[in-house]
Amino acid sequence: MPKQVVTQRSRGFICINAHPEGCAVNVERHVEAARAARPKVASGAQPPQRVLVIGASTGYGLASRVALAWGYGARTLGLFFEREPEGERTATAGWYNTAAFHRFAGRDGLYAASLNADAFSDQAKRAAIEIIRRDLAPVDLVVYSLASPRRTHPRTGVVHNSVLKPIGTAYTNKTIDLSSRKIHEITVPPASEQEIADTVAVMGGEDWRFWIDALAAEGLLSPGARTVAYSYIGPELTWPIYWHGTIGRAKHDLEQTAAQLDARLAAAGGGHAWISVNKAIVTQASAAIPVVPLYMSLLFKAMKERGTDEDAAGQMRRLFLEVLAPGREPALDGERHIRMDDREMRPEVQAEVAALWPQVTTENLMALSDFTGFERGFKNLFGFDVDGVDYSQPVETDIRW
Ligand code: NAD
Repeated sequence: MPKQVVTQRSRGFICINAHPEGCAVNVERHVEAARAARPKVASGAQPPQRVLVIGASTGYGLASRVALAWGYGARTLGLFFEREPEGERTATAGWYNTAAFHRFAGRDGLYAASLNADAFSDQAKRAAIEIIRRDLAPVDLVVYSLASPRRTHPRTGVVHNSVLKPIGTAYTNKTIDLSSRKIHEITVPPASEQEIADTVAVMGGEDWRFWIDALAAEGLLSPGARTVAYSYIGPELTWPIYWHGTIGRAKHDLEQTAAQLDARLAAAGGGHAWISVNKAIVTQASAAIPVVPLYMSLLFKAMKERGTDEDAAGQMRRLFLEVLAPGREPALDGERHIRMDDREMRPEVQAEVAALWPQVTTENLMALSDFTGFERGFKNLFGFDVDGVDYSQPVETDIRW
């Protein structure tokens, strides 16, 4: 393909194209930060060396992959579901992020393999198992970071669609229309029993368990293998739509799965399964939740003022290079969560957000919140508005690895 100038094209809260160079610059910054944070590993301690990341192309999964690869020199297999470039149509951001990941990994002599496939399918598991058997066996860490709107169940063929709805009663609160920047009230009707079950089928723990089952059945997990999946709890303000809603129900299912997997992996040789409760960050998945983008805009301001804000990459460096550093056992809360959202949930941060929430309007949005930061973060996800990129220059969009 001849090079082309790529300008951002959006539809509602979704951006329908991506800038390859902007994505590469984002990944490179995360790579450099992970390299700089590389911890000293005590002699005898075993950092993760062979890692499978499911949901590895954007958000927390990509951040995990970068932290592990450049923090410990881990060999990684990344799995994701992205659109490749076709003619003049750009690929999705996750595709370009992955191409950049491979470029930097090749430059730095790090093994990387990637699979663009539907993680919920048996074919994807078989394909991953082939690569692992050949290049990575046994795996010592599995990161499960999928965020998907739907799942075709591999046993029944039923297509489950997840919804972001409250349970029991309708929920009314302020939200922000991301294209018009107007704050308005939204009422989300309660989910039906079917919608709750469907959301649990997509975002609950069954597929995570299927992955661990498949790897264990093939003898591809190391004796002390660990696995971690991600969750979010947040403040009471968002509970009706998140923690007490359909997605929260799915996350509770994920927790039960973690407990079961933990017992199995521990019995198999001292391994573990954990849920890490992460901080709210701008991702394609979180921008789609009603109310949450406005909450994040207020949150980012409160955290930036205190110098405590972290992006996905910063969170995952802290998780893997500090909290889960070799030889260290993570502190868990009463529900067995690793609380990476500790800084978000500090009382003074939440008090500030709660005080501003009733006051914020379309007119004072920019003054009271960091909506500018939210918008920039959103554009950055797709490689736009990234410092150091000249968007007037034509770029190659047909990029592969
Ligand atoms: P994201 O949208 O940035 O990433 C989702 C990843 O899943 C991508 O790599 C995508 O390609 C992949 N994916 C989606 N469907 C797939 C499929 N069928 N097969 C293979 N890959 C598929 O999402 P994110 O926000 O980073 O979320 C990841 C996890 O972190 C989720 O469990 C989410 O609940 C959790 N989390 C997110 C936040 C937040 O604020 N964004 C906070 C805490 C926890």
